[in-house]
Amino acid sequence: MPERNSAIRFARISRAKESPCAFVPVKGSGLSQPLQPSKIIAVGLNYHSHARELNMPVPENPILFLKPLTALAAHGETISYPASSRQVDYEGELALVIGKPGRNIPEDGAYEYLLGYTLANDITARDLQKQDGQWTRAKSFDGFCPIGPVVKPRLKPEQLEIRTLLNGQLKQKGSPADFIFSVPRIIAFVSEIMTVYPGDVILTGTPPGVGPMQRGDRVRVECDEIGVLENRILET
Ligand code: MG
Repeated sequence: MPERNSAIRFARISRAKESPCAFVPVKGSGLSQPLQPSKIIAVGLNYHSHARELNMPVPENPILFLKPLTALAAHGETISYPASSRQVDYEGELALVIGKPGRNIPEDGAYEYLLGYTLANDITARDLQKQDGQWTRAKSFDGFCPIGPVVKPRLKPEQLEIRTLLNGQLKQKGSPADFIFSVPRIIAFVSEIMTVYPGDVILTGTPPGVGPMQRGDRVRVECDEIGVLENRILET
């Protein structure tokens, strides 16, 4: 069930796979804090190629929105297809996990605040997004934010390739080398608005090729250096 303890399950899954980063050390206490976000932040348009695909101008600053914690789902969880939508899209994305609290983080020190990288699917009810003129309903259904399977530290984002497959067929492929806003720029920009805490997740935007899923589909976001995040859309 994609209920509100999915974030806790994410931490457990990370631990099961022996990720070195399933828990965040609490400075000076000798204790660790479980990986649970206080918020999920997402960047709306962050690939030059996706902006070209949509024929949209490159934004001056990152366009941010939030997804609720109740949207979290773990690798392997089944996602419900909302009755109120007729078009539910996948958006495979690289996600950042924050490692220590920060506010007004400078770009040149941003990596110090990063615990590591994981994968996410920013599932979106596209018809409701267009209908509402803003994104909260479209992006916020329970289960609309699968994240995982583990957090990997110290990767070079511009060398990664993020792929999305629908029923085994490649639909999206992109690299942070094509980002409009770099990882440090995103962290600096977000932390100028809100304090970031350990476990907070930042979705970095999706490459070209977003498209609809049907009931019963299997959607997979993968990256060689991180792993596989796969979820099935409920049949009914
Ligand atoms: Mg997105």
